[in-house]
Amino acid sequence: DESHWYETQPWGKRDQADFYNVSVSLTTNLTPEELLDELHTIEQAGHRQRLVHWGPRTIDLDIIFWGDRQINTATLTIPHAQAAKRNFVLLPTAEIAKTDVLVGPQVAQLIAANQDQSWIKKVRNVSELDD
Ligand code: ADP
Ligand code: MG
Repeated sequence: DESHWYETQPWGKRDQADFYNVSVSLTTNLTPEELLDELHTIEQAGHRQRLVHWGPRTIDLDIIFWGDRQINTATLTIPHAQAAKRNFVLLPTAEIAKTDVLVGPQVAQLIAANQDQSWIKKVRNVSELDD
């Protein structure tokens, strides 16, 4: 599944362009570490493409939840440590996780405890992102 795309307020350093965030859910035979490797490969490709066509941009692909598993290794913390306290992660994720019995309750709990005041708003027409 895929959430709406959201335009979101820059976190921390405010004097920069807004961000876009989207959450997706997927089923995979990869291990968490293997999926992380794949995400890093896509991030590297994304960086290159954006540098050529659009000027400097970044892409950030994070694993937020893995069902109800808790993972703490040198390279992976799941649920994602900081992202799971931020509106720009929690609200798109809640949109697609409502019916997921493993993830839904975790997101709901984090949203209930969340103090983040930053705004996020749905992008109505995703094609406008190409401007
Ligand atoms: P951030 O996402 O915190 O802005 P990076 O994308 O540069 O920063 O990630 C730095 C490192 O965070 C990754 O190389 C990865 O090993 C580690 N990491 C730990 N937990 C996760 C997670 N749940 N999802 C993605 N990366 C993670
Ligand atoms: Mg990241």
